[in-house]
Amino acid sequence: MTPWPAPLLQLDLRTLLLMTIVMSGVMSVVMYSVHRSFRGEVRGLDRWALGLLCVVGAGVSFALNGWAGKIGLLAANMLLFWGVGLSMIGTQEFFARRPGWGLFHGVWLVGGVLTVWWLYLQPHLGARIAAFSLGAFVFYAMQCWLVWRHGLRHFSYCFFGVLVTLQALTVLARLFIALRTDAVTDDVLRNGALVNVFMALASFMSLMLAIAFLMMAMRRLQSILEDRSTHDPLTGVLNRRGFDIFYGKQRVQLGREGRPLSLMSIDLDRFKAINDRYGHVVGDRVLVQIANIISGALRESDYVARFGGEEFVVLLPDAEVPRAMMVADRIRTALRTDWDDQLPPCTVSIGIGTHVSREETLDSLLGRTDAALYRAKENGRDRVELAETAEIR
Ligand code: GH3
Ligand code: MG
Ligand code: MG
Repeated sequence: MTPWPAPLLQLDLRTLLLMTIVMSGVMSVVMYSVHRSFRGEVRGLDRWALGLLCVVGAGVSFALNGWAGKIGLLAANMLLFWGVGLSMIGTQEFFARRPGWGLFHGVWLVGGVLTVWWLYLQPHLGARIAAFSLGAFVFYAMQCWLVWRHGLRHFSYCFFGVLVTLQALTVLARLFIALRTDAVTDDVLRNGALVNVFMALASFMSLMLAIAFLMMAMRRLQSILEDRSTHDPLTGVLNRRGFDIFYGKQRVQLGREGRPLSLMSIDLDRFKAINDRYGHVVGDRVLVQIANIISGALRESDYVARFGGEEFVVLLPDAEVPRAMMVADRIRTALRTDWDDQLPPCTVSIGIGTHVSREETLDSLLGRTDAALYRAKENGRDRVELAETAEIR
C-alpha cells in the first residue's frame, strides 16, 4: 500500500495535543466571557465553554496516557463524550430548543460502559474508538439538523453548518474504519499515521467549530443590538432612527417608480391627564395598547414609529390621501371597539400628509402633517385633518 504523503506521517501527535489543549482553553475563556456579557441575549455559550474545558481535560488525559494508564484513557473518553455532548446542548439552547439532557446522559452512560468493557475486560482499541465515534456522531448529527433547520441564511450559520456536517461525516468514517481495525494496543500516541490524521482533523475541527459557533453568536448579537437601536423599548415599534432608515429605503424605491407615499402624525388626546390621574405605569400601558392598535390597522408594508412621548408617526408606502384616511378611521374605530377595558378610554388626533413632489424632504412632509395634527387639536381633538398641499421649505 502507498504510504501517506510524508508531511502527514510527520505530524507530531504530542504537539497537536498541546495545540488543541491551549486553543480549546483560550476559546473556552472567550466563550465564557461573551456569555457573561450577554447572558440573556445569546444562549448556549456557557455550555460550549464548559464543553471546550472538557476537551482541554481530555487532551491532558491523552497526553498523560503513558503515565496514567487506563484510568487516563477512560477519563479522556468520558471528557470527550461530555465535551461534544455539551456542544450539542449549547447549540440546542442557542436555537431556543429544549436541551436534550436525556440523549446527553444516555449517550455518555452507554458510551462509558462500552469504553470500560473494551478497556478493561476485553481490550480493543478499534471497538472503543467505534463506540466513541458513534456517540459523537449522534451529538454532531443533532447539531447538523438544528443549524440547517433553524439557522439563518447568513455566512456564519452556513459556515457552522458545513463544518458540523463535515465533522459528523468524519466521525462516521472513523466509526467504519475503527470497526475494521484489529489494533488492540492502548497507546494512542503510537498508533500510526491514520490515528495521526484523525487526531489532527479532530483538533482542527473542534477549534473551527468553536470559532464558527462564536461567529453565529456574534451575528445574533449584532441583530439584537441593531434591533435595539432602531426600536422603542416600551412599545416595540420603530423609534425615530428606525423610522428614518425605513423611510430612506421606501423613498428611493417609490420615487424611482413614481409611486406616492403618505405619513400620519398621531398624538394621544389629553394624555397628561391620564398620567396625572392613573399614574405613569397605566400611562405606559396605554401607550403599548395604542401602539398595538395602530400596528393592527396597518398592512405589512406600512411602518409605525414612536417619535418620543405620546406621538406616533405612520409611514404608508404606495398610499394617497384616500387610503390614509381609511387607515386613520380604522385606527379611531379600533380605539373604541378593541380597547382593553382595564385601561382608561383614549382618543387620538391625526394629521395626514402626502409627498407633493419628488423633491420634498422628510422634514417638510413631517412639518405639514404636524401642522395638520395641531389643527386637529385646535378643532376639538379626536379627529383627522389633512395637510396643506404647499411644501414647507
Ligand atoms: P394634547 O391633547 O394637547 O396632546 O394633550 P396631552 O396631555 O396629550 O399633551 P402634553 O404634551 O401636554 O402631554 C404629554 C404627556 O405625555 C406628558 C408626559 O407626562 C407624557 N409622557 C411622555 N412620554 C411618556 C412615557 O413614556 N410614558 C408615560 N406614561 N407618559 C409619557
Ligand atoms: Mg397629546
Ligand atoms: Mg404630544
